[in-house]
Formats: sequence, C-alpha cells, structure tokens
Amino acid sequence: MNNFFDFTFDEMVQFFSENGLQKFRVKQLWQGMYKELKTHPSEITTLSKSLTDQLGEFFTFSNLKTLQISASSDGETEKALLELPDQNAIETVRMSYHKRETICISTQVGCAMNCGFCATGKMGLMRNLSAGEIVEQVIIYQRYLALEDKKVTNIVFMGMGEPFHNYGAFIKAANIINAPEGLQLGERRMTVSTVGLPDLIRKFADETRQINLAISLHSANNEKRSNIVPINKKYPIHELLSACKYYLQKTNRRITFEYAIMRGYNDTANDAKQLAFLLKGLLCHVNLINLNPIPGSKYQPTSSENAKRFQAILEEAKIPVSMRLRRGIDINAGCGQLANQNKRS
Ligand code: SAH
Repeated sequence: MNNFFDFTFDEMVQFFSENGLQKFRVKQLWQGMYKELKTHPSEITTLSKSLTDQLGEFFTFSNLKTLQISASSDGETEKALLELPDQNAIETVRMSYHKRETICISTQVGCAMNCGFCATGKMGLMRNLSAGEIVEQVIIYQRYLALEDKKVTNIVFMGMGEPFHNYGAFIKAANIINAPEGLQLGERRMTVSTVGLPDLIRKFADETRQINLAISLHSANNEKRSNIVPINKKYPIHELLSACKYYLQKTNRRITFEYAIMRGYNDTANDAKQLAFLLKGLLCHVNLINLNPIPGSKYQPTSSENAKRFQAILEEAKIPVSMRLRRGIDINAGCGQLANQNKRS
C-alpha cells in the first residue's frame, strides 16, 4: 500500500495512468483531500464509488493517529502526540500568535545529532519520516484549524529530527505542501532549521529555494560548540560559515542563527562579542532564546540580566537580533523539548 501523502501531483498523475485510472481524476482527488480536507476519497462527491474503492486498495489516507493534544496554560501553544503505523510516535506543535498559525513539524523519529541540551537528541534516531508522514502532520492541523475557520499560515521544520539528515523527504514534503493543487503554502512561509551540515547547506543553496534557512549555532567558539553540538567536531565553525557564505552568495537570502543561551556556558559578554565578531558583515539575524531546560541536563537557562546584556552587545555591534519568548514550556512543547514516552519498546 502507498501512502497517499507521499506523492507529488505529477507522480500521482503518472501512477493513475500506469494503473489504468483516469488522469483527470487526480485533480478532483487532490481538491477533495488537500483543499476540502476530506479524510477519505469516499467523502468526495465528484468521485464514483468504484473509483474510491479502487483508491482504497492502492493508497492509505490516514497514517497518523492523534493520541493526545496538550494545551499550554496561556492557550497559545498546543502539542500533539501522533502515532505512526509502526507505533513509533512523533510530536508536533501549533503556535498561535500575531495572527499566525505556525506549525512546528518533525522530520525524523528521534534524532542522531545528540545535542547536549535537546530532549529529542537524547532519544537517538529511530528512523526517518517519509515525505508523506511529514505532509500529513500539516494536514492534521489544517483540518483541526478549519474547525475554528483558520488555516496553517507558517511551517517550521524544527520539530523532532534533523531535516537535512532526511534531506530528500524534507524537500519533497515542502514541494507537496507548496503545490498549487495541494495546500499551496508559499515557500516564504516555511523555515527549515538545521544543526549545520555544510554539504547539505550548499546543496540547499544550489536549489535557490525561498524556504528560509535557520542554523543552530549556540556558540561562536569551536570547543564550546563541539561540547553541546557534537557534529561540530566533524564540521567545525569555519566550515559551517563557509557553507553559509556560499548560501548567501547563491540566494542573497538572510540566514537566521539560533542561539540558546545557557547559564555560565555561553552567556558571557565575551561569548556575545565572539558571536558578533563571527557574524559581522553577514546578511543574517540572530534569534536568541533562553534555554528550555530538559530533565537530567546540566545546562540551565541564564538570568534575564545576562540575556539582556547578550542582546545589547549584539545590538551595539549592529548585528540584527531578537529574543524569542519561550512558549509552551509548561507542556514540554518548547524548542528542544520534544520527546515522548510512547517509544516503541
Ligand atoms: N535539528 C534541527 C531542528 C530541530 S531543533 C536543528 O538543530 O536546528 C530546533 C531548534 O531548537 C534548534 O535551534 C535547536 O538547537 C533548538 N533547541 C534544542 N533544544 C533546545 C532547548 N532545550 N532550549 C532551547 N532551544 C533548543
């Protein structure tokens, strides 16, 4: 059986013609599934019963089961626990503010990057998600939001997993989400966040996409970064930065650098100055976030004074910077807090 959401529009047209189905029906099927948000083709009135029976033999249309939804106390963040057909589970987050409905989606079950301050990193990598499993996360929220007469307005590939470690599925999912016959969400409304894999940053640059790029930097010092982001041992900061410069040359699109501030680790004036020095002259923006603490980790959030000082030093150096509010941390839906007890044993 094929997952319906794994197909691009063109692939599905091809599949229809190879299997003796009328190609023009694909448009009606996509209209029903992606725009009218039906859960199964049998609900699409323009399709005959014999066709929907056939489709039911070729495709699965519901692969993610919502096990649980938790809402943060301020009501602005919700986290969903979604079960995959193999009983693995992933988490996704909905953030609703500034009239935006941003969905933070996962690209892997777990993650192989093992960053010291990240809950997903502690799980290790179970497996990659398929493109369809990535797309269906958005569909689930699109259906859910439709009940409130709302739509998904932004997507961040910042949930569980390292998107560039599952590059093909990530790009394919973005294509399906972007397709005019599908959800038609503009690439400018998508952001991918990577731990910083230089070869793939270059590959991404070569595709000159409009998807925004965010890089998890967290320290401008190699030794410190290697301690918290182990992949830095393989790809040290100068290699990462050189890939970023390549990206900027190719696309001229601003890069976001993410920096989680940790008390006594990367929060000093000196750390801020090193960061300013590293990024000086680059078309970029620094997104500071005070660390969301995870159980059993030695890394802790910094004080608000230190966070403000850090920000002020960057501002003084004319590096564009903003401080992200920590949202959803009461339901463990904050950045880096996604993990679940629902692991397959
Ligand atoms: N693997 C990708 C995307 C997932 S993490 C990446 O590394 O970018 C999304 C963002 O949350 C990254 O910037 C990550 O470093 C950050 N993050 C992880 N754990 C965090 C924590 N405990 N507190 C704050 N941010 C965290």
